[in-house]
Amino acid sequence: NEAAMDQAEKEALLKKDRKYLWHHITPHNDNPMVIVSGEGSWITDADGNRYLDGMSGLWCVNVGHGRAEIAEAAAEQMKKIAYSTLIQSHVPAIELAAKLNEWLEGEYRIFFSNSGSDANEVAFKIARQYHHQRGKPSKHKFISRHRAYHGNSMGALGATGQAQRKLKYEPLGVGFTHVPPPYCYRCPFGMTKGECEVQCAQAYEDAIRWEGAESVAGIIVEPVITGGGMIVPPDEYLMRLREICDRHDVLLIVDEVICGFGRSGEKFGHHNFGVRPDIVTMAKGLTSAYSPLSATAVSAVMYESFKASGADSHFRHVNTFGGNPVSCAVALKNIEILEREQLVSRSAYIGNELLKRIDTLNGHPQVGEIRIFGSAIGIELVTDKTTKEPANAAVVSAIIGGCKQKGLLIGKNGDTVPGFMNILTLSPPLSATDEDIAFIADTLLQVFEANGGG
Ligand code: PMP
Repeated sequence: NEAAMDQAEKEALLKKDRKYLWHHITPHNDNPMVIVSGEGSWITDADGNRYLDGMSGLWCVNVGHGRAEIAEAAAEQMKKIAYSTLIQSHVPAIELAAKLNEWLEGEYRIFFSNSGSDANEVAFKIARQYHHQRGKPSKHKFISRHRAYHGNSMGALGATGQAQRKLKYEPLGVGFTHVPPPYCYRCPFGMTKGECEVQCAQAYEDAIRWEGAESVAGIIVEPVITGGGMIVPPDEYLMRLREICDRHDVLLIVDEVICGFGRSGEKFGHHNFGVRPDIVTMAKGLTSAYSPLSATAVSAVMYESFKASGADSHFRHVNTFGGNPVSCAVALKNIEILEREQLVSRSAYIGNELLKRIDTLNGHPQVGEIRIFGSAIGIELVTDKTTKEPANAAVVSAIIGGCKQKGLLIGKNGDTVPGFMNILTLSPPLSATDEDIAFIADTLLQVFEANGGG
C-alpha cells in the first residue's frame, strides 16, 4: 500500500465527493472507490489498492492505462492549437479521417462528435436526410433489437431496447421499434442453436414489412450485443440483415462503439462477419477513452447526395467539441499503438486464452453458458442449468465482490429487469500481458470455487 493517499487527504476528498459529485448510473454511495492512477491493465485507488481493470473502464481503455506517449501527443497538439471548428478543417481531423478509412477497409466520410450516443444521433439524422434527398421522405423509422444499448440521449435511448433504462425518462425520440435479439441460449423463437432458420434475422424483414418499408429508414445493430449481455448472433445473421436491408432500401447502421478498434479480434466487429455497413458509429476504443471523441462513418455513396448543389443539401448539424484537434491527435496516437503492438490480433489471443483457462467453469452448477467475441466475454449465471432460471442478484454480487476482494474488477449486465442482471462481463485491455491473463483466469476459478464448486 505504499501508493496510498494520506488518510486525512482522502477523507477531505470524500467529504467533497459526498456533498458535490453525482455518480453515474448507481445508487447513492457515500464511499465510492476513488481511482488515482493506472498502468497497463491495472488501476490504483486512494488506499493504494491495485485492481486489474477487467472491463477496461466501460469497455474502452483498449491500449491500457498510463500511456505517456498519448499524453505527449495531446500536449503537443494543445501547444500548437487546442481548438478549431470542423466548419473549416484541421490537420489531426484530416489525418484521422484518412486513417479510419484504412481501418474500415471501405470508402467512408467521417463526421466527428463527442460520444457514442452522439455518433448514433448523427447516424439517425443523416439517414433521414439521405432518404429525403432521394425523394423518399417517408422513410424515417429505425428498427433495433430488444436488449441492445445505443446510448443515453433521447434518440439513442429510443433505439435502446432495455425497458428499465427508459422508464421515467419517456417520451423519448419517436420512430424506433424493436425486434427480438439473436439470443441463442434463450432463443425467442424456441429454436435450438445451429438447427434453426435464423428466424431472428427474418424477424427484421417481417418488422420492415409490417411497418411498411416505405416508412423505414434504417436498422441499427451492434455486431454482438455487448452491454445487453454478450449476445453473440449466429454466423450468418449480419449477412442476412445486409441482404434484407438491400431488398427493402433500408440502411444498415452498425454500432461499433464497443466492438470496434480490436475488441472483436478484428479491426471492427462487422469484419468478423464479412459485412459492409452503410453507416458505422464508433467511440470508446477510438481514443481508448484518453479523450472524448466519436465518429459516424457514412458510405461515400451516401455522401454524394449531401454534395449535390443547392443550399439545402448539406447536413445541418454542428457541435462545438466534435473532432476536437486534441482528441483527434490522441486517437491517431492510440491507433498507432494498436498497430505497432498488433493489439487487434492480441485481442483474439487474449479471448481464446481466457476461454481455455476458464473452460472448467462450464461444469460449475451456476454457469449456464460462456460466450465470447474477440476479447469480450460473458458468463451467464443460472440457478439451474436445465430450467435456465437466471441466478439471483446475491449470487452475482458474491462473484463480483469475491473478484474485487482478490483485486479483479469485472462487470455485470443483462436485461436490466430486476433480478435478471445475471451475466458477468469481461473485456480487459488489449495490451493485457500473459501474467494479467493468468491472473484474471485464476481469480475467476478461485472465486467460483468458493461459490458453489466447479
Ligand atoms: N453504443 C454502444 C454499443 C455502447 O456500448 C455505448 C456505451 N456503453 C454507446 C453506444 C454510448 O456511448 P457513450 O456512453 O459514449 O455515449
